Amino acid sequence: MKTKIKPSTFPLGGIHPRSLGFNTMDNEIKNADLPHFVSIPLSQHIGVPANAVVKPGDIVKTGDVIGESSGFVSVNIHSSVPGKVLEIKKGYSAIGSMTEMVVIEFEGELNMSRTGKSPVKWKDMSCEDIIKKIKDMGIVGLGGATFPTHIKYSVPSDKKITELVINAVECEPYLSADYRVMLEKIDDMLIGIEIAKKLLNVKNVYIGIEDDKPEAIQKISEAVSNIEGIEVVDLQHKYPQGGEKQLIKAILGREVPSGGLPLDVGVVVSNIGTIVAVKEAVVDGKPLTERVVTVTGSIVKNPGNYKIKIGTMIKDVLAEVGLIEDPGKIVMGGPMMGLAQYNDEMPVTKGTSGILVLSKKQAKAYHHAPCVRCGKCISVCPMGLDPTLLCTSIELDRAEKAIEQGQNDCIECGCCSYTCPSQKHLAQTIKLGKLRQIARRKGEA
Ligand code: SF4
Ligand code: SF4
Repeated sequence: MKTKIKPSTFPLGGIHPRSLGFNTMDNEIKNADLPHFVSIPLSQHIGVPANAVVKPGDIVKTGDVIGESSGFVSVNIHSSVPGKVLEIKKGYSAIGSMTEMVVIEFEGELNMSRTGKSPVKWKDMSCEDIIKKIKDMGIVGLGGATFPTHIKYSVPSDKKITELVINAVECEPYLSADYRVMLEKIDDMLIGIEIAKKLLNVKNVYIGIEDDKPEAIQKISEAVSNIEGIEVVDLQHKYPQGGEKQLIKAILGREVPSGGLPLDVGVVVSNIGTIVAVKEAVVDGKPLTERVVTVTGSIVKNPGNYKIKIGTMIKDVLAEVGLIEDPGKIVMGGPMMGLAQYNDEMPVTKGTSGILVLSKKQAKAYHHAPCVRCGKCISVCPMGLDPTLLCTSIELDRAEKAIEQGQNDCIECGCCSYTCPSQKHLAQTIKLGKLRQIARRKGEA
């Protein structure tokens, strides 16, 4: 498979966000300082929260299960440090929802429960056993969606998957955690791909990388040059190419239908970090207790890519990297889709790809002006929506109309808000419309 697949980017909308220069691409992955305390949410994934299986006073080792999955769409949660369980409390997670958290005080030696065991011969394992292992080890999508990976790889019997697409795009500005993983963990990535191929029973794998990462394209292309069925696809740099629908369109030219999933067009998309986590879970028996996070921003003294224990508080991370001044805004994730935090008392979770710290000047609130009907938001929408029309429907509480106009097709990429000369809160309003719809469904509104 040497022929380059066309097109090399998605055709509809998209933007090229301007760079503010917080580049961490050359910063190798560094272990963050060990935290004195961790606060580990029992809900860090899409689906049902895990049930606590520890109580205050219990002693845990790194990798011990502290929350057991409580349904099919759920995964285990593990202790990221050895120590004593201090309390189980309710608290807000980075996405703003109330969840139970297990607070552990670090004590003892940092070693995994299975240290000393040799790697598992995964090729001898059945698909069922591999899927169970992935679930037990708490693996979820590390691109930010946190969808349980065992479900993604359990394809319904009426669906046939023909391609596995590895999402190595990382199109959010300033984030480089995936980039460093793809440079530093190529061997693990290749084993993870083989495991995913077995589970999905696919022969064709495409690794999508944008052309602003030539070193990764070259290194991975060399690594796969003698492996049949794996191709690196260099894509034009454009946001939001990391969206599953945009990536599938860019690499395979296929359109995921409205309300549909990639598997409806025979594709499974996995983030590069997830693929490495799958290898570590299945072969090394390593649960998801830490992840690589890009910590950057105009006032960060030592920006970089840090491997951080899940449950570490943002304030501890910021104390380590150092700040030039008090932050004006802390964003979990990238500047386009990340979530601004109320304070620095939030833990790093499985879905935290970045921590962006902005100065007070950068974070200054801005006020939107009336729509000038320029149509820019429509031209950049990668889903072909009319954001201004949608927002009007939501603002007027015409919920049914907003749904008709494609509210649920919105991928919340923020391109419309970014480009609007009137600085209207378009993406935020659409998100609000979706939240209202969920609340109505639950009978809360
Ligand atoms: S946030 Fe939604 S409406 Fe706005 S550009 Fe992205 S997909 Fe379109
Ligand atoms: S970009 Fe802003 S000003 Fe232009 S049409 Fe859309 S909402 Fe109106």
